[in-house]
Amino acid sequence: MIEKGFDFGRLYRKIVRYYLTKHHYTKEKANMIAQSVVRKEMRLRTCQNSDCSHLLYDHLRNYQSCLVGDCKCQRFQRAEA
Ligand SMILES: [Zn+2]
Ligand SMILES: [Zn+2]
Repeated sequence: MIEKGFDFGRLYRKIVRYYLTKHHYTKEKANMIAQSVVRKEMRLRTCQNSDCSHLLYDHLRNYQSCLVGDCKCQRFQRAEA
């Protein structure tokens, strides 16, 4: 089963709304937090193999061979925490 792509835009909006309504942060501050969280999430979901750099969801069963075009990546490489 291949997991569907991750909706980063939706995550971004959820974080902004959360900080605006629950923490009463300014829009600027909420946007800044959302940007850094989404950036981190994207990094965690991007293959660190320099020949690949495709998303986790492009890999077979999420962690095996990359399915993009003629990419030679055989295994998703996680980012260091
Ligand atoms: Zn790839
Ligand atoms: Zn890869």
